[in-house]
Amino acid sequence: MAQAFRNAYAYELLKKESTVDPLTRLYNRRFGLKRLIEIIKLAMKESKPVAIGMLDIDNFKPINDKFGHICGDYVLRKISQTIKSKIRSFDVVIRYGGEEFLIVLPFTTKESAAEIAERIRKAIEDSSFNCNENTIKLTVSIGACQFDGDCNLEDLIKKADENLYMAKREGKNRVYIK
Ligand code: GH3
Ligand code: MG
Ligand code: MG
Repeated sequence: MAQAFRNAYAYELLKKESTVDPLTRLYNRRFGLKRLIEIIKLAMKESKPVAIGMLDIDNFKPINDKFGHICGDYVLRKISQTIKSKIRSFDVVIRYGGEEFLIVLPFTTKESAAEIAERIRKAIEDSSFNCNENTIKLTVSIGACQFDGDCNLEDLIKKADENLYMAKREGKNRVYIK
C-alpha cells in the first residue's frame, strides 16, 4: 500500500515537472501553449477579450558575459518572480524561450494589457538584482496585442512578436501595443 502511494506520488510529481520550467518554475512552452489555447477557446465561447504580451530582457547577453551564467540564471528567476508579483491570479506566465516570457491575460482588453505590461516593465526597471556582490540593473521590452476573435494561435503570437520587435526598434525598455 505504501509503495503504491509512493508510486502515485512520484507520478504526480513527474506530471507536474513536465508542465514547469525547472529554472524559473513557470509553465514551460509546451504546457503554456496548451493553457493559452484553452483560455482562447473559453474567451471565444463567452465573447470575452484576451490579451497577450511577449516580454524579452534587453541586452541580456552582456549580463551573462559580464557577470557569468550563474548570475544570469539568478536574474531569470528573479524576473520571473517580479512578473508573477505584478499580475492577477488568473493570468498565466510562460517561459517561452531563453530570456523570453509570454504573459497571457484573460478577460483583458488591449488598454488594460498596456497598463499591466507597463506595471511589469516599471517594476523591473526599478529593481536591482544582487549576485556575487554585483548589483545588476536591467530592463525589458514588451510587445502586446489583443486576440481579435478569428486569428489562429500562430498569428496571435506573431503579432505579439512583431510588436516586441517594434519595442526593441524604438529603443527598448518600453511597451509596444497595437
Ligand atoms: P536584445 O535586447 O536585442 O534582446 O539583446 P539580448 O542580448 O537580450 O539578446 P540575445 O538574443 O542576443 O541574447 C539572449 C541571451 O540570453 C543569450 C543567451 O546566452 C541568454 N540566455 C538564454 N537562456 C538562458 C539561460 O537559461 N540562462 C542564462 N544565464 N542565459 C540565458
Ligand atoms: Mg530574446
Ligand atoms: Mg533579449
